[in-house]
Amino acid sequence: MFPSWESFLACYEPVPGLMLFPSGAANNSSSSSARARARVAGRELASDDQTVIKFILCDQTEPRMRRHTLAAADDDSLPVIIPRNDKAVVPISPERVRRLRKHLVLTLRALRTMKGPEHSVSPLRPEPEGFAGHVARTACSLCKGWCCRNGEDHAFLDEGTIARVRCASLALDVRSTLRLYVERVPEVGYENSCIFHGKQGCTLDRSLRSDVCNSYFCGGLLAYLTGDEVVIPTMVIAGAGDNLRTSPILMP
Ligand code: SF4
Ligand code: SF4
Repeated sequence: MFPSWESFLACYEPVPGLMLFPSGAANNSSSSSARARARVAGRELASDDQTVIKFILCDQTEPRMRRHTLAAADDDSLPVIIPRNDKAVVPISPERVRRLRKHLVLTLRALRTMKGPEHSVSPLRPEPEGFAGHVARTACSLCKGWCCRNGEDHAFLDEGTIARVRCASLALDVRSTLRLYVERVPEVGYENSCIFHGKQGCTLDRSLRSDVCNSYFCGGLLAYLTGDEVVIPTMVIAGAGDNLRTSPILMP
């Protein structure tokens, strides 16, 4: 029940970067031209839905970090620059579990009074496949879930998510739905992050995660995934300073 970071990408088809080589860009970049292309990527991101944009805006890597990490990319590979979680792992307090439970009770109540709840079922979005999926999984693994800090004690679980979960298993009543989630809260998790953000990654199966979690990619990853040059040698660069980590060059 504790998926490794290698399998963690699930979260991120699209939510919390920047694409250094968007469509048609050559690989022999100087840092200034790379920054110019990054700005182009930023405009591409502006056309995505508002939820995604909100997270991109709050999760963009710092310009200083981008300058620093550009130098680490191999000249012949596409750098995908992402942030990196450096929080400590701490026990999850009973108070946090109580807040989660309260959030779920309110969500279940809202679902019960909703007209036509079957129309509110949020879709279960697929993960990226093939080489792009490999790059995304590598990125989220190196990053250790930086964007999950936004999940707090609600994990973005809303009526649509709960409706999807209950549709998938008609045997789930209110009590068992609550138990399903509360039992998945890890004993320890990253400080100031989502209540399901355990040491080994998200403790929720993809089918139990919110549409936000299943749709979100940070800016760097989203720009890579929506760019034209997805199937080329790629290097993931995560974090900055002492917290900087790079992947090997990933080959298609
Ligand atoms: S911040 Fe980006 S790389 Fe990190 S876990 Fe989130 S989507 Fe993955
Ligand atoms: S449920 Fe929490 S830990 Fe899991 S992907 Fe969503 S925000 Fe991250």
